[in-house]
Amino acid sequence: MDKIDHLRREIAKRESELADLKSQLAVAESEHRTQDESKAWRWPLQDHEYQRYGRQMVVPSFGLQAQLRLKNSRVLVVGAGGLGCPAAAYLAGAGVGVLGLVDADEVEVSNLHRQVAHSTGRVGMSKVLSAITYLRELNPTITYKSHREHLSPHNAQAIVSQYDLVLDCTDHPTSRYLVSDACILLRRPLVSASAFQTSGQLIVLNSPPGKGPCYRCVFPRPPPPESVVGCGEGGVLGPVVGVMGVLQALEAIKLIARGGLEAAEGEEGAGEQRVLIFSAMGDGPSFRSVRMRGRRKDCFACSAEADLTLEHLETSVDYVQFCGVAKPVAVLRPEERITVKQYCEIRAAHSEHTLLDVREKEHFSLGSIPGAINVPISRFNRGDEMPELTAAAGKDGPIYVVCRVGNDSQVAARKLKDLGFDNGGERFVGDISGGIQAWRGAVDPTLPFL
Ligand SMILES: [Zn+2]
Repeated sequence: MDKIDHLRREIAKRESELADLKSQLAVAESEHRTQDESKAWRWPLQDHEYQRYGRQMVVPSFGLQAQLRLKNSRVLVVGAGGLGCPAAAYLAGAGVGVLGLVDADEVEVSNLHRQVAHSTGRVGMSKVLSAITYLRELNPTITYKSHREHLSPHNAQAIVSQYDLVLDCTDHPTSRYLVSDACILLRRPLVSASAFQTSGQLIVLNSPPGKGPCYRCVFPRPPPPESVVGCGEGGVLGPVVGVMGVLQALEAIKLIARGGLEAAEGEEGAGEQRVLIFSAMGDGPSFRSVRMRGRRKDCFACSAEADLTLEHLETSVDYVQFCGVAKPVAVLRPEERITVKQYCEIRAAHSEHTLLDVREKEHFSLGSIPGAINVPISRFNRGDEMPELTAAAGKDGPIYVVCRVGNDSQVAARKLKDLGFDNGGERFVGDISGGIQAWRGAVDPTLPFL
């Protein structure tokens, strides 16, 4: 294992060095091209550009004008993940002038099913560098800028102000409000998308700048922190997030091509604003588009009364506090919980008991503790009939509830007590602290890691 880790780290290090070299080469090549371009040439684009972009330039209503606008545009992609990878790939391919990427994370194996600009060989490398390595292979003739940091109130102005258009490819409410506020203050249009499990949504915000609604107009209040489940835990299908990222690139290209980056002058304002909703597995149509209200009169960020300023954003807007932090679940008292070690001893002593695993069946089916009965927490929450529980009620011995990390299990154990499964306190009903993750760490490392 040590040897494998060592080799992986070595490869990641050399990949980073290689990425640096390629970046230097690209800069040198670009300087060379600029010298070439200064020689007498009577067409607005260079020969290599007609070759590369010809297939899109001949599309009716696109043309040379749109290509020149793309070449002069500077686009920022915030987040080099499931949305950012396909979005950046199509923007690079289409020939935007400057493409910037912001992300502080490193590539992980679990990213690869959807984050198509990364690769197995680049696991452990900065996502921004990994994506730029891929993008340079795709199109070495444009300028890439790497921002290997999370967008924060402190760097938002410095980064966003270098670009004309922003794509929000992040996956957390704190980033979404921050990106939107920065775009309002710096008058940049924003193409925002999200994807989760089998659905996604797409909105073009602050377009034209100074007119269209912002993220706060559409979502004035953040979702409750307990309800924010990332793709890491809730899952997402690769093509679903891919579709949304590709649509972001398309909206960006449309905006640039029709000259929509400029701030609106006078009365003519935003046309009809719509949210596009994609549902891969539903019974209805896969795509629906819903009309959206314009700007909110009382919007914190973009209304006439809003007193949000760049200085205010940097010094006194606390996005983490605004979005809230999920509190650790403490539904059970300490004496109602057992540790994985205690549960291990109970199993070793063969004492009669019921083990209830309340993870969703998709998680359960990938690996569980032998003998566990699966009753997903969603069925508890819906108040479904649970015949498996009635069977367990007829047996003797305590009931131990387990989930992924030890939150849902507390909620389920509390419900079981409320339903009378503890026989008025005579039978122990409690949960296993730390859940399957703790069990995997302390007892059975062969359980699949999720
Ligand atoms: Zn607003």
